[in-house]
Amino acid sequence: MTEREFRAVYPLIAEWMQKTLAEQAAAARPVASLGFGRLPHYYDERTLASAKVVFVPKVPMPPLSAMGLDEFRNFEQMNAGGMTFFDTYFVRTDHARDESLHFHELVHVIQWRHLGAQRFLALYAGGLARFGYRKSPLEVIAFKLQHRFQREAPPFSVEAACQNLMRKMAFPGDSPAPLKGP
Ligand SMILES: [Zn+2]
Repeated sequence: MTEREFRAVYPLIAEWMQKTLAEQAAAARPVASLGFGRLPHYYDERTLASAKVVFVPKVPMPPLSAMGLDEFRNFEQMNAGGMTFFDTYFVRTDHARDESLHFHELVHVIQWRHLGAQRFLALYAGGLARFGYRKSPLEVIAFKLQHRFQREAPPFSVEAACQNLMRKMAFPGDSPAPLKGP
């Protein structure tokens, strides 16, 4: 995927995601309303109140191959447990009470917020194309922080840790992410 290809398809992806969210708006609820016990020790109140979750039998995947990005066919067919679009994430109903998965998707909410939609999608797609799902830089950060959470590490600020990792991470074909200050 070249930068030019990405720029051509970005509006389609963003529009598809917005439409998908609009269709599910009535089912979206704030993460704070789920009553998880550990998440509030890692995420600030504002994030848990503003981020939303939608439970679905199957997580929606953007139809990237239909948009001409054939190299993402495998990703598209992955039966993901969760997927984040902007400040909202989808979780498969059979994973609804998996606090660790919610933790993971919330890392993506923070990444979306700090990078902005276009940059998040450019880095996500670029990483996916170059390294595959598990080794794509934004996923590496999410899995790394999720493992810390799973190991029962003492509470830490995911927001700060995530920004720190994003600053250090070398993104493919890109200069370091221009992140907002604390
Ligand atoms: Zn992820």
